[in-house]
Amino acid sequence: MQEPHLSAIEIEQSAEEGATFSHVATCAPCQHRVARAKKLITALRDQPRADTPNDLAPRIIAASELMTRWRSARRASIPEMTAATAFTVLVAIALVWNFFGALEQNGTLDFFDLLASPELITAYFSDYLLALFETLPLVEFALASLAVMSVIVFARQWIELVESRISFPARSATRRN
Ligand SMILES: [Zn+2]
Repeated sequence: MQEPHLSAIEIEQSAEEGATFSHVATCAPCQHRVARAKKLITALRDQPRADTPNDLAPRIIAASELMTRWRSARRASIPEMTAATAFTVLVAIALVWNFFGALEQNGTLDFFDLLASPELITAYFSDYLLALFETLPLVEFALASLAVMSVIVFARQWIELVESRISFPARSATRRN
């Protein structure tokens, strides 16, 4: 078993007071966190006019820890997100298929054939539009559009999730409580 990572308070002790923890020597993520905390503390000290409260640094560190935990919780949801994304893709395929089936059934596509003779369309333009509109399977179209939009939303979140795992591989392996 690997030693647990430093807590927010230990990180702060290490960065601010120079406290040493044996775990840090062998843990790159913790070294990184201590270095980041040191930078933060230095930056806060270098602000001459800043009358910052004493507990600002630990508060910011705690907030960043919370971010880290939130990220790892998100990473843990990758399998569910993958399943949900795959499911919306299947639903979208079915509904788009259904939409094209309805187009064919309603004879909407015949109206598109008329585009080959534009003089006919311009002569009867309003009739053409009305008839086209009547044959359009609007409900099927709405359903298919909704499904496609869901796929886009889910796929975006999924890509974001997978990318976040690639950017923080070390922590995902060790931070699971
Ligand atoms: Zn560590």
